[in-house]
Amino acid sequence: NFVSAVVPPGEVGVKFNDIGALEDVKNTLNELVILPMRRPELFSHGNLLRPCKGILLFGPPGTGKTLLAKALATEAGANFISITGSTLTSKWFGDAEKLTKALFSFASKLAPVIIFVDEVDSLLGARGGAFEHEATRRMRNEFMAAWDGLRSKDSQRILILGATNRPFDLDDAVIRRLPRRIYVDLPDAENRKKILRIFLAQENLESDFKYDELANATEGYSGSDLKNLCIAAAYRPVQELLQEEKKGDMDNVAPELRPLNLGDFIEAK
Ligand code: ATP
Repeated sequence: NFVSAVVPPGEVGVKFNDIGALEDVKNTLNELVILPMRRPELFSHGNLLRPCKGILLFGPPGTGKTLLAKALATEAGANFISITGSTLTSKWFGDAEKLTKALFSFASKLAPVIIFVDEVDSLLGARGGAFEHEATRRMRNEFMAAWDGLRSKDSQRILILGATNRPFDLDDAVIRRLPRRIYVDLPDAENRKKILRIFLAQENLESDFKYDELANATEGYSGSDLKNLCIAAAYRPVQELLQEEKKGDMDNVAPELRPLNLGDFIEAK
């Protein structure tokens, strides 16, 4: 249970279509991961098309890195193992060697598999000098040794996908093992619109609601911020209805929830 989730293909429940924007990132992942996992025979000859052993997703918090990792497993038809760097190093002091071996032997049995390492900087961050905990150092060394030890047969079907908001904290040795680094940026207005369309597709919106206006008013918002805004706005009509019911004046209770007013929830970022 040092692994936070192991999910079989098709059960992760997220697909690329559930992710708004990030088209370039999806295309790159298609080439680097989905095709080689789905069609290994196309990549098994010659020397040029070697499958990628490690990919780093980096960028500001809440931009969809975890979501991309999950959707990637669905699209590639791979098992999904998720581990969180900080949990590993804090909870499992001392058992580094055993745990890392178990993780990698488990992963080879589950191939094709994507091992998602969230907060990869806390597991595999730059060497922390005198203050670094011995267990953290051992965990990192073990992890890298096991990673290097993947037989080339396995490496086609086991991908380590790291994510971080702090790419500059990563050790050079780790950066080398994650040869493909993909920046997951905050969405611009056009992309915020695409993301909002996904969140609001099923909602009752005011008749004069305009996606463009909301997209323009939410400069600096991440996908996660946009989701929180939509959830807050969807909750307000429920609160109001409950308030009316509490007053006991049932004549005033609307038969249904009023449409969402998203403008009330915008805060400067
Ligand atoms: P962190 O770096 O903080 O871990 P992250 O980049 O991994 O963040 P996620 O956890 O993937 O971000 O995003 C949080 C939530 O925000 C997602 O579960 C999803 O609901 C929403 N979200 C973020 N970006 C998008 C997007 N492009 N399309 C749809 N939903 C998104």
